[in-house]
Amino acid sequence: MSDPRDIRILLHASSNDAELLEIADKVLTGERISPAEGIVLYERASLGFAGTLADHVRTRMHGNIAYFNRNFHIEPTNLCVFDCKFCSYSRMLKQRSDGWVMSKESMMDIVRSYADKQVTEVHIVGGVLPELNLEWFADVLSSIKAMRPDLHIKGFTAVELEYMIRKAKMSYRDGLAYLQKAGLDSLPGGGAEIFDETIREQICADKCDSATWLEIHRCAHELGMHSNATILYGHIESFAHRIDHMERLRSMQDETKGFNCFIPLKFRNQHNQMSNVEECSVVEDMRNYAIARIYLDNFPHIKAYWPMIGREQAQLSLHYGVNDIDGTIDDTTKIYSMAGAEEQSPVMTTRQICELILAAGKQPVERDTLYNHIKSYSHESLDAEFGVDGFIGLPVAN
Ligand code: SF4
Repeated sequence: MSDPRDIRILLHASSNDAELLEIADKVLTGERISPAEGIVLYERASLGFAGTLADHVRTRMHGNIAYFNRNFHIEPTNLCVFDCKFCSYSRMLKQRSDGWVMSKESMMDIVRSYADKQVTEVHIVGGVLPELNLEWFADVLSSIKAMRPDLHIKGFTAVELEYMIRKAKMSYRDGLAYLQKAGLDSLPGGGAEIFDETIREQICADKCDSATWLEIHRCAHELGMHSNATILYGHIESFAHRIDHMERLRSMQDETKGFNCFIPLKFRNQHNQMSNVEECSVVEDMRNYAIARIYLDNFPHIKAYWPMIGREQAQLSLHYGVNDIDGTIDDTTKIYSMAGAEEQSPVMTTRQICELILAAGKQPVERDTLYNHIKSYSHESLDAEFGVDGFIGLPVAN
């Protein structure tokens, strides 16, 4: 159902909350909702109500399309100078023997292993380790570009960037320009967590603050690099904090137009210092995607990161505002599996990811990092490309 008049009738029949219905009418006519209205949605909209509205917005923006890409990750180290309470991935420097640090050569070996694969993106993020400095990373980036000039390099959270650029005694703009010249194409958007300073103080007090996160992304956008933006939700934050987070992003996007997608990341409670905090429900996950889709009217894409949330929930999210489920990954990330995520060895072949999207009633479209269409898939084209009858593809990003 995509006719706004039909949706309006449905919503008015399902709720007698006048304020909610007024918000719905604004969304259906393409009008922006206010932060106060965003909080009302979080507090009072059922999953069905928020989901119906979000699906309308998603369909208005993207029709039936659901995007994915062919990518792999490199995580240079899990040693980190910071101490984020929710982090299950990092090891402090004094626990060095429990962690890993990759050499440049081992990173290049990973890139080399994809020589004959049709991947379009490498995603590089990790802990913050002093010896992996700006110059070292610039060398890695230029070596990757020399080996695979076609590969889009999406790398580094603002947290990693703030540290390496500060240590190099450069301005954010100059440091980013230096990395861009070496081969950095875009930023993945991690490290945002929750922008509210009081929550940040409790969960990640010692790393780059919200203003700096935003400033680094602004500099990247001004240099012509796109970025994504994440939120870590479902821990000790309130609904108002989630809206405040999205409001800061929406305001900046009005100015720079440099964000591609918004990626809600669910707090997972295993093997970290916040294991006493319960994880939120799947219903809340879906409501959160839906309200993000409604609120962030200037963000082109909402992504469900399937290694974090699991395949089935990623599939479900396509009906709650999500239009992108990330990439084939090829079991190259440990960030969420170490926190107890659904996917312990995240890998999907192109065929598997397309079938997952088709089974949700959506049209799979392979994209590049910047959402240029590469190829659209159907059951027939999958059979033609990969064969018929139970072929499950190779366990790599083929
Ligand atoms: S979330 Fe990032 S910055 Fe924080 S401890 Fe973990 S690796 Fe380090």
